Amino acid sequence: MLKALRRIVQKVNATKDTGEALSIVVRLVKENTSADACSIFIVDPERGDYVLAATEGLNPELIFKARIKYGEGLVGLVGERGEPINLDCAIEHPNFHIISDSGEEKFSAFLGVPLTHSRELMGVLTVQQENPAYFDESEESFLITLCAQLSGIIAHAQVMGTLWKSESALSTTIHEVTYSGLPSSPGVGIGTAVAVFPLTDIDAVPDRVAENISEEEKLLDHAIVETIKEISRLKEMMGNSLPDEELGLFEAYLHMLDSQSFITKIKNSIHSGMWAQGALKNVITQYVTSFESMDDSYLSERAADVRDLGQRILFHLQAQEKKTVHYPEQTILIGEEVTPSMLAEVPEDRLVGVVSLKGSSNSHVAIIARAMGIPIVMGVTGMPISKCDQCQIIIDGYFGQVFVNPSATVTEEFERLASEEKQLDSELEELRDLPAETLDGYVTSLFVNTGLMSDVGRSLSVGAEGVGLHRTEVPFMARDRFPTEEEQRVIYRQLLKAFAPRSVMMRTLDVGGDKPLPYFPIEEKNPFLGWRGIRITLDHPDIFLVQFRAMLRANQGFENLQVMLPMISTIAEVEEARRLFVQAYEELCDEGLQVTMPLFGVMIEVPSAVYLSREIAKRVDFVSIGSNDLTQYILAVDRSNVRVARLYDPLHPAVLHAMKYVVSNVHLEGKRVSLCGELSSDPVATPILIAMGFDALSLSATHLPRIKWVIRTFTMSKARKLLDEVLAMDDPVEIRGHLELALEEAGLGGLIRAGR
Ligand code: PEP
Ligand code: MG
Repeated sequence: MLKALRRIVQKVNATKDTGEALSIVVRLVKENTSADACSIFIVDPERGDYVLAATEGLNPELIFKARIKYGEGLVGLVGERGEPINLDCAIEHPNFHIISDSGEEKFSAFLGVPLTHSRELMGVLTVQQENPAYFDESEESFLITLCAQLSGIIAHAQVMGTLWKSESALSTTIHEVTYSGLPSSPGVGIGTAVAVFPLTDIDAVPDRVAENISEEEKLLDHAIVETIKEISRLKEMMGNSLPDEELGLFEAYLHMLDSQSFITKIKNSIHSGMWAQGALKNVITQYVTSFESMDDSYLSERAADVRDLGQRILFHLQAQEKKTVHYPEQTILIGEEVTPSMLAEVPEDRLVGVVSLKGSSNSHVAIIARAMGIPIVMGVTGMPISKCDQCQIIIDGYFGQVFVNPSATVTEEFERLASEEKQLDSELEELRDLPAETLDGYVTSLFVNTGLMSDVGRSLSVGAEGVGLHRTEVPFMARDRFPTEEEQRVIYRQLLKAFAPRSVMMRTLDVGGDKPLPYFPIEEKNPFLGWRGIRITLDHPDIFLVQFRAMLRANQGFENLQVMLPMISTIAEVEEARRLFVQAYEELCDEGLQVTMPLFGVMIEVPSAVYLSREIAKRVDFVSIGSNDLTQYILAVDRSNVRVARLYDPLHPAVLHAMKYVVSNVHLEGKRVSLCGELSSDPVATPILIAMGFDALSLSATHLPRIKWVIRTFTMSKARKLLDEVLAMDDPVEIRGHLELALEEAGLGGLIRAGR
């Protein structure tokens, strides 16, 4: 059985067409068990039912036609219970429901196993046999194991829109479908979806309607000519170094590019209304599938060559298309995994929302979108990206909902809510020059988090009192090598100048984890527990010293620099970093420069630093809690892994207790403590954060006015009472609910949901 299982999974993984993969599964299951029929029913979220997606033993004409309502029949029961049902005589079961014309009346025994991915039902696999006997235990466990692996593939196919391609992708449109994900940046976004996908991944290309058929045809012709040139060049270059057999591959490529049937197939697809990239993908997939199904191993391996050729043509298509991508006035980017660079491609005034299937609210793309004030929903399940391309979309960033082609009533309602939001934001502008002071006179400083120079203007316009976290890694990421001391000095000086005399807390380089540098690759099994942050820079004093020198030089004449260290987990790291810092300072003094020693601080992001916080506070001038990482490490939840995103919650009582403990330890040493993680931007948390005694909160500029509004609406005594109440609770969901209620009661409900 194990061998059969491996064989099935291997075959399925090698097949790119999911419909084909499911057919292989049902065939092989039937061959390897006592079943006379095996079928797969897939959940169709748009229609709210199951559809027969593959069968071996039932009437094959019913594939993608036979449908079963949720809760109907034995398939519905398996889905509802979420567990296998094994019957010797299905017809006697009260839920038995025959699918007409399926030919299943001859079967007696039935075993149905749910296909579940991340707690979500993807479908049901069934086996049936004529013999009225239960399927034995080993068969049942074989199918459970198979389904566990298969469900991930089906989930992926749903997302890529490849599952339904047997139905014409262009003729099916989605109507009023709602998808859910993780609320990752508040606000309402209404606009047109633009699907983004990794360049040159041919499987990820969405089916998109051609705007201009003859234009698409021209693009294809040009791409084919460019590919022919590229391959001829390669052939010539390698002519002397490769044996004839290998050179034959280039000949085969050129032959295919010259083949009228190949080109005509792509053009036919374009003429039916598909854009060139989608047409290419579909034809390449057909070729790959037919090669893969060949029994001759030499021929079946040619599938990889066809795919490679497809990638090359795609590259040339995309090179032309890139210049012509049209972003509508109100663009909502949707993608399997939206990255910060995809975000950067859209003109800022056109981007009104982002939907990403992968990632969570703490992925960097979410942090950037929040800083820009763009609503974002991450970790959305089941949304077929390619089918939603160009659709009308509404995003509710408060509740993590995405409405595709919503009805007029829903659209009107959200338009009303969006205009109320705008109104609220303009009213909050009046708070710009007022202090973040509670009704009973307690003042907290509000700083901003920055990374790009474009953050600066926004920060000053909302009345930020300084920078509480400057992520210096951004210019390191945007280059193809480490920036020089002088390049860094210029960047830091611009920032210090813009904010002077307000203070700027610059964090030393914090790369690794989910922030790789393209020119400094780090391959690790556990990057978040590996070489990141201070660990890298202490191992590379050359990088560290250059950065310190650049900071100190940039500060000349302004004297508003403060420096802080990320990812500290031991006292030795603090001392070593300070030693290097003093070394850089002394070097500059020896060189005759007039530099001053700035304040020196540490970020508390790791549980060991929580317990050492008093010792750390003795050695530094200030402390700042990085709640994004602190939550990840206290709860042992990868901050960007969507599978465990439900468990990631900075309002978890363990995180709250840890933060309170750090604040009181730092205050015992008479030092200041701030919070610079994303929790600072969450209005629900504001009352308890001020009650803990944080001297400052540092957050994205977009959220600053709203947080100031919360502070100015509460009294410290009410905030302290709330803190006591939540610290007595043990469930983060209960804590959030309690705090939301407090905001509603204070008349601040407009901060936690759309509308006033
Ligand atoms: C944090 O971890 O809370 C933090 C502010 O740092 P970053 O999000 O850049 O890791
Ligand atoms: Mg961090």
